[in-house]
Amino acid sequence: LTDLNALADEFVRLSYHGLRAKDKEFNADFKLDLDLDLPKVNVVASDIGRVILNLVNNAFYAVNEKVKSAPEGYNPKVVISSKQTEKGVELTVKDNGDGIPEHIKEKIFQPFFTTKPTGSGTGLGLSLSYDIVKAHGGELKIESHSHNGENAGASFIIILPNSKIER
Ligand code: ADP
Ligand code: MG
Repeated sequence: LTDLNALADEFVRLSYHGLRAKDKEFNADFKLDLDLDLPKVNVVASDIGRVILNLVNNAFYAVNEKVKSAPEGYNPKVVISSKQTEKGVELTVKDNGDGIPEHIKEKIFQPFFTTKPTGSGTGLGLSLSYDIVKAHGGELKIESHSHNGENAGASFIIILPNSKIER
């Protein structure tokens, strides 16, 4: 049985310190907002961990890009939250980067689709993540955020069904 909160905590730190070590300019922070009553789930922990890592890496990348171009006062933020809903258990990775343009949205789960420069991205993270979550009977959803009509970041939500909750 897997504690998703512990998994999220582990992988966000792994991502953060990995990026820090690789890129001295890396400038982002994160916050965990976890439901401490979250039930444990019956999943392949290494697979769901990989999904979390992909989502968190993408989120840090997005806010870090925005730091490079953003107006003064931009505050990069990545928030990882968990909660139990009627559908099951949800883990959300939210960032306040530039978000995902509408014309790209339907492509981002395709294998090899990337908007990152050569060497920075394989374009496989989301396609693999989608397959892993589907294989668990779950869903991987995107939500876009806007502020004053402009893209203001994205949320990726891993939804694991009630059947994965151990009672
Ligand atoms: P990669 O990270 O190697 O590019 P992914 O499959 O993880 O491949 O993501 C595919 C594309 O989806 C990214 O290149 C980017 O354009 C978009 N994307 C993913 N996550 C985010 C995010 N949090 N904010 C903005 N764009 C994103
Ligand atoms: Mg990626």
